[in-house]
Amino acid sequence: MLTGMQIAVIGGDARQLEVVRKLTELDAKLLLVGFEQLDHAFTGAVKEKMEDVNFAEVDSVILPVRGTDPDGKVETIFSNEQVILTKEMIQSTPPHCTFYTGISQPYLEDLLIEANRKQILLFERDDVAIYNSIPTVEGTIMMAIQHTDYTIHGSSVAVLGLGRVGMSVARAFHALGAKVKVGARKSEDIARITEMSLQPFYLNQLTQEVKETDIVINTIPFPIITSMVLAHMPVHTLIIDLASKPGGTDFRFAEKRGIKALLAPSLPGIVAPKTAGQILANALGQLIQEDLTQRKGKN
Ligand code: NAP
Repeated sequence: MLTGMQIAVIGGDARQLEVVRKLTELDAKLLLVGFEQLDHAFTGAVKEKMEDVNFAEVDSVILPVRGTDPDGKVETIFSNEQVILTKEMIQSTPPHCTFYTGISQPYLEDLLIEANRKQILLFERDDVAIYNSIPTVEGTIMMAIQHTDYTIHGSSVAVLGLGRVGMSVARAFHALGAKVKVGARKSEDIARITEMSLQPFYLNQLTQEVKETDIVINTIPFPIITSMVLAHMPVHTLIIDLASKPGGTDFRFAEKRGIKALLAPSLPGIVAPKTAGQILANALGQLIQEDLTQRKGKN
């Protein structure tokens, strides 16, 4: 239980509602900032304006997956007001205060280093990334269906990368009957792709390997689908780029060649916000509990 913990939940989308639900169930006291247009009330959670939060009493701060923008602005879909997290607010938190976001972002990271406050990046955790790959796959299948006039079954699909998302995507498209090949750069990944009964290839052969693909699904956050690769792709190929912004595709050249290339960020929050929120909520519940236990052990 998180009895006695004071947690500020600042901004976010529908996923944060699952986080709020879970943390109030665990008996934490919650301050909700940027939620004034939310009709629902949660027992144990109070809506506050950013300027009214007493950061000196806050044990944890939960921000949206992307943290803040480069000016400290926090995105929120439940408010029309600007919510800005400033250096002074961060510095007025107690030294044990921990900040939770999904991915790293320089504005926040720099201020937290300066203030010597801990930041936890939820999407860097294997468990969160693997659970999150499930709604990501479902969103990818949805996009493939929406943007093609043929079945996934029987189509030629190339998946780039065998990380947490790549493995789930490759497995799901294979199960749907696609002819799946997977590109990786490490020999152990080539071995794993073979073990999965999929066709492996080294990424340095990508230009040759895309010559007959119907769908290319990229999970590599690096410029991998270059103009050279695009020049070898059939014009009917659909590219679904799942890698974090700006993706791994030369979108300008894809458009020039008439190849449909879609950057598809944040699919879990779009196709399954409730599940995606529960994934974050479960991880946060566990992490904040561990933090509390550790602090009690020290006192
Ligand atoms: P991951 O487990 O770290 O996998 C990344 C993959 O990219 C690995 O196979 C890695 O290979 C490969 N890679 C990285 N840099 C490379 C390079 N320079 N050249 C060749 N291969 C490279 O990450 P993940 O959890 O699968 O996530 C993949 C991407 O999808 C991330 O950008 C993540 O933010 C994004 N994502 C998007 C959504 C969405 O809704 N669109 C959802 C979840 C995640 P090595 O092991 O050889 O480095």
